[in-house]
Amino acid sequence: MGKVIIKVNGLHKSYGNFEAVKGISFEVLEGEIFGLLGPNGAGKSTTLEIIETLRNKTSGEVVVDGLDLDKSPSEIKKIIGVQLQASGFYPGLNLVELINLFAGLYNEPTDALALLEKVNLKDKAKAKFKELSGGQKQRFSIATTLINKPKIIFLDEPTTGLDPQARRNLWDLILGIRAQGTTVIITTHYMDEAEVLCDRVAIIDSGKIIAIDSPSQLIDNLVATGFERPVQVKKANLEDVFINLTGYAIREEG
Ligand code: ADP
Repeated sequence: MGKVIIKVNGLHKSYGNFEAVKGISFEVLEGEIFGLLGPNGAGKSTTLEIIETLRNKTSGEVVVDGLDLDKSPSEIKKIIGVQLQASGFYPGLNLVELINLFAGLYNEPTDALALLEKVNLKDKAKAKFKELSGGQKQRFSIATTLINKPKIIFLDEPTTGLDPQARRNLWDLILGIRAQGTTVIITTHYMDEAEVLCDRVAIIDSGKIIAIDSPSQLIDNLVATGFERPVQVKKANLEDVFINLTGYAIREEG
């Protein structure tokens, strides 16, 4: 880790009179999992979609792997992986056919079954997208981000609405993708998820970055101010109980 792979400088985005992103700056390092955290409406998706070349910015500078967003958007598209909206998954095609379709669009020879195996969906190769569970849908959608062998993938709230097993399963998948050298940018409003996954996070509120650091450093900074949790923290939480009782294995197939 070390080299800056994404640089965002003074980014602004207005929708009419409303300024959704108010001059934010941050850098993402190669090989890290970088989290954008914030409440609904903070400007996370807008920021991601601008970097992904899917939305126009109002002003500011974005550089992805040395490529200027204003000058080389199509070059940027080639090195990033973006989750497609479910509406892009043609209902008549099964998972293998969908991967082959996208591989054809990217002009990228792809072993569809190997890719499905990577995301633990090989036994669903002949299934249609709509027949998958929530966790399986997310895993498939993450698989599609990998087709063009991107340097960076963007995951917008990949675990929202999933049960604890499916969520932890997705964490393992994301950590595995990073372990193979891919940089990951993720948005989430699950703080436990950010703590487990993210090397660094930017906390965004009302279009501004109000903190940026590793989760551990942010917690240390808060503790250093004299902050203490008002109640004694138990050594496990209800989610631990649930996982302990129902097991860690993927259950959504059943
Ligand atoms: P987040 O991803 O953090 O929930 P968004 O980036 O989706 O936030 O939205 C930031 C703000 O911009 C919100 O107030 C939202 O209503 C507004 N917004 C997003 N997209 C549009 C749009 N296309 N037109 C007008 N306002 C928008």
